[in-house]
Amino acid sequence: MQTAESQSVNAACWSCGSAAPAGKAWCDACGKVQAPSEGVDYFTVFGLPRKLRIDLPALERNFYRMSRKLHPDLYAQASPEERQWSLDQTSLLNDAYRTLKDPIARTEYLLRLEGIQIEAGRSEEGKPKDSRVPPDLLEEVFELNMQLEEMRMNRKMGEDDPQLRADLEKARTQFEGQLAAVDSSLESLWTRWDTTIDNDTCEPETDKIKDEIVALLDRRRYIRNLVRDVNEALET
Ligand SMILES: [Zn+2]
Repeated sequence: MQTAESQSVNAACWSCGSAAPAGKAWCDACGKVQAPSEGVDYFTVFGLPRKLRIDLPALERNFYRMSRKLHPDLYAQASPEERQWSLDQTSLLNDAYRTLKDPIARTEYLLRLEGIQIEAGRSEEGKPKDSRVPPDLLEEVFELNMQLEEMRMNRKMGEDDPQLRADLEKARTQFEGQLAAVDSSLESLWTRWDTTIDNDTCEPETDKIKDEIVALLDRRRYIRNLVRDVNEALET
């Protein structure tokens, strides 16, 4: 991975020789498409600082503007290299847009750029590798697992227990409320993170924020899986 320093180093346009910030899809001077810079990150693709709050309508407008400018049809008469670069830049742009427009994917991506390994990703299938129960949820999770087990047994026996169903629906509402609380805590951490970027804050403080974000993402993943389990149990 490139460092922040090497990303700001100017590269020369292959066609006109003008200096262009590395990571730009085309040369500002002559408009020619450039080969994708190695290791360019998604924020740089859009010319954005590494902040967690993003102006989504602006991101979308930029995405469509850049997509049009890189459209392969415009390169039908260009050299094979330029045609290939327009395809490479388009696929990089698509990946960058898909990741940055999703708040959770964006947050996980930024942490990875910061050298933090995110454990389980956001796979919808299968249990996450990290299935530690958040300590404050131990009791609720224990209770929930009992109810889920009972629900499965009932189903096997072809029985339905309206009370149990109501309890599970209540539990689902509770966990959804906790998810909303996690999201709102995450949003305040985004603000704190962005402030550190604006103020060039010292490392211990930014490390602390990163740790808090990681913990919240773990918690979010855990609760989401619980909600998914309840949904599966309630589907009959
Ligand atoms: Zn040029």
